[in-house]
Amino acid sequence: MADTTLMSIPGQVDPVPVARDITPREDGRVDLLGLPKKDIAVLFEGAGLDARQAKLRSKQVFHWIYHRGVTDFEAMTDIAKTMRPWLTERFVIGRPEVVEAQHSNDGTRKWLLRTADGHEFEMVFIPDADRGTLCVSSQVGCTLNCRFCHTGTMRLVRNLTPGEIVGQVMLARDALGEWPKGKMDFAEEADEAEYTADGRLLTNIVMMGMGEPLYNFDNVKGALKLVMDGDGLALSKRRITLSTSGVVPAMERCGEEIGVNLAVSLHAVTKDIRDEIVPINKKYGIEELLQACADYPGASNARRITFEYVMLKDKNDSDEDAHELVRLLKEYKLPAKVNLIPFNPWPGAVYECSTPERIKAFSNIVFEGGISAPVRTPRGRDIDAACGQLKTAAEKKSRAQLDREAAEAVAGEAR
Ligand code: SF4
Repeated sequence: MADTTLMSIPGQVDPVPVARDITPREDGRVDLLGLPKKDIAVLFEGAGLDARQAKLRSKQVFHWIYHRGVTDFEAMTDIAKTMRPWLTERFVIGRPEVVEAQHSNDGTRKWLLRTADGHEFEMVFIPDADRGTLCVSSQVGCTLNCRFCHTGTMRLVRNLTPGEIVGQVMLARDALGEWPKGKMDFAEEADEAEYTADGRLLTNIVMMGMGEPLYNFDNVKGALKLVMDGDGLALSKRRITLSTSGVVPAMERCGEEIGVNLAVSLHAVTKDIRDEIVPINKKYGIEELLQACADYPGASNARRITFEYVMLKDKNDSDEDAHELVRLLKEYKLPAKVNLIPFNPWPGAVYECSTPERIKAFSNIVFEGGISAPVRTPRGRDIDAACGQLKTAAEKKSRAQLDREAAEAVAGEAR
């Protein structure tokens, strides 16, 4: 076990989420991905269509974007041939650029993506027997510096836009071949079953990739609205989970305005330990957090709140911790399940994973307390896609470079 007592606790306690300006496209065209239908209509009207035309065209284009996965206006066969070049000149339907796609030997897939202005972030797809879950990023980097998390060692570069967030889902559908084939005509739409029939691989979304989604509230909300929109990607809110490290003031809004399932990165049951592992705890403590969970709109026994708990050897994994966890969840009468996550190590991490026996014993105590506490099987470890391991290659490289430079500087001083 690494001795961490003398190390300073990293991270800003009260981060200020400042979104950087997004560099406009060089060609001056506007990316329609991530915009609600009404905003597309406004853009079309601003570009010269009359109001009725703008509304109709926006409906058609929206359909092609989200139901068919089309990125080329020329493929939109119910739009007049003469209209398509007009659209192409002014607009674009983007995707995040894929820098690298990796396949784990357990089937997990990880993509390193790049925004149009050159920032890299990651998304992960985790296939299971009965579901396929896409782990989506909300920010490039993160301000929160949770100590067990590799992403937390990246600086925050900027918030992702709604288009870049929903773009991850679109890209996953592209990669998994999940867009409907068949007739490309609006008139055929009565036969919805043709392309909403299930059997899809991508069934669930978790906002658990890079970043704290509640520090990018508006963009995450905009993206998830498109994912849930019946005319958009039409995924049920019950299949979407947003994971927060505990941004208490935004939790109620999340339940009311987005309405998805909530997961909370709890990871410790005492102030001292949670202050260390999840530094935002210094701002919003455990009691305040659990009260916000108890008040979370829509939470019920059918829609339980998931508490994520990373298992760190000799840090948060004792029998006493497990009993305290049960006590706290009961005190706040929380419809809860606990996900026990074996710690996924990364270079430079100050923690070790608890032993399998310890994890089992912890899990048993929580189960005996009447709360489900399965141990999450680590996925995608071989490609650094597992929980808390996300960090872009560029950032890893630059840090390695920095380390080299620091070593050279020290060597230079010594000479
Ligand atoms: S666990 Fe989430 S909130 Fe905490 S540092 Fe990592 S990405 Fe940020």
